[in-house]
Amino acid sequence: IAPVHVVGGGLAGSEAAWQIAQAGVPVILHEMRPVRGTDAHKTEGLAELVCSNSFRSDDSSSNAVGQLHWEMRRLDSLIMAKGDAHQVPAGGALAVDRDGFSQAVTAALEAHPLVTIDRGEIAGLPPAEWDKVIIATGPLTSPALAEGIKSLTGESELAFFDAIAPIVHFDSIDMDTAWFQSRYDKPGPGGTGADYINCPLDRDQYEAFIDALLASEKTEFKEWEGTPYFDGCLPIEVMAERGRETLRWGPMKPVGLTNKHNPTVKAYAVVQLRQDNALGTLFNMTGFQTKLKYGEQAAIFRMIPGLQNAEFARLGGIHRNTYLNSPKLLDPTLRLKSDPRLRFAGQITGCEGYVESAAIGLLTGRLAAAERLGRELELPPATTALGALVNHITGGHIVTIDEGPRSFQPMNINFGLFPHIEGQATHGPDGKRLKGPAKSVARKQALTARAKVELDGWISGTQAQAAE
Ligand code: FAD
Repeated sequence: IAPVHVVGGGLAGSEAAWQIAQAGVPVILHEMRPVRGTDAHKTEGLAELVCSNSFRSDDSSSNAVGQLHWEMRRLDSLIMAKGDAHQVPAGGALAVDRDGFSQAVTAALEAHPLVTIDRGEIAGLPPAEWDKVIIATGPLTSPALAEGIKSLTGESELAFFDAIAPIVHFDSIDMDTAWFQSRYDKPGPGGTGADYINCPLDRDQYEAFIDALLASEKTEFKEWEGTPYFDGCLPIEVMAERGRETLRWGPMKPVGLTNKHNPTVKAYAVVQLRQDNALGTLFNMTGFQTKLKYGEQAAIFRMIPGLQNAEFARLGGIHRNTYLNSPKLLDPTLRLKSDPRLRFAGQITGCEGYVESAAIGLLTGRLAAAERLGRELELPPATTALGALVNHITGGHIVTIDEGPRSFQPMNINFGLFPHIEGQATHGPDGKRLKGPAKSVARKQALTARAKVELDGWISGTQAQAAE
């Protein structure tokens, strides 16, 4: 059997290589360290954790990343097995001894008879004679390979910084204060004329919001990141520093909108939120990319009327990153549409985080191995954490209204990516209607319970297919 080539031995590439080898297919894993380093990695170990040592919550009944852990363990994940083996105390989170973890992943791959590890940079597009390749080179993909990828995708489809506006769960927005309306009721392509959620601020509320922004703590860029600001994409706090009125003339401008709850009073400023996923469960705060510290963001954004109880699926940020405009470029199995021998995995696809990157590595490894063995592998259902994540990357994100081609932004797994369960989780075991946190927990538990059943169903289906 001819080998599959995996480029990048990080979280995604290590997991992909393991899955391929475990399926009985030879794999060559190309990792450039230590021959060439990155600005963040410090060792030559595979699956090095470049910052925190946490895989986040391990609660698989009411946490989305915990559910992803559960699914990955079910699927023989190397990253989860070695994470579990090198756990350090961290309450409900799974945190790991980073050196022990990375050494164990490296040792497992070195010892596998079907894995060859090749230390060296792939400095450009992979050679044409490699017919099956997974590119998992992460947020710090080497410049030569990034140039090669850009030559296939076009300049504007590979981003080197993310510019992330916060995303809010729709059901946490107070629609007795906010209302749906597009500016001047103008429908964009695919829109209805009532596509945005609008949150109104009066003068005092606006002034208090600006004061809070100016007083807030910001995250600094690391020296090697540079400063990527360009005028179309300034963080809101930088706009506020340029003048107290700047935001009111920018992303918070109140024109062309009538508050249906209070039509005679003109809002002094308006924050708009735009639908972010096809399910309609998530809305992003338009133009609100920010470098505010995470700890500050929720409190400041909850000052906005309508968002006083907002639950955030993602907070804002701007970081050095390398990621594709995946919904446009990749097919549902994460292959480049214009060159299907190349499949992408990990953070470069537009997921975010160690666990998510490894999860996409796991899936692409299985997909590539199945292809090599001449088998079909269906994708996991969108009701599972794995399926929901891949759906965000390749299809779940909608490009509507006036969004440009770069509107796709990286995201962690979260419950907003899971399809709703209609009519469920509205009443507790005592028959009483659930409200507030109890309702939210019941909803999460129903989603994870469904995900577990559906994942096991998918595994049985794939095993039956393989046995045929
Ligand atoms: P990586 O783990 O980075 O692996 C990519 C590998 O490819 C690297 O080993 C690299 O050396 C190699 N490579 C690159 N180019 C080539 C080439 N041309 N040829 C051969 N090999 C190549 N996520 C979290 O969950 N928690 C955090 O605290 C966190 N902190 C982060 C801090 C920073 C500074 C950065 C940049 C990211 C952080 N992330 C964090 C986000 C991200 O999830 C991780 O970076 C994660 O490691 C991504 O997994 P990956 O496999 O896609 O990429």
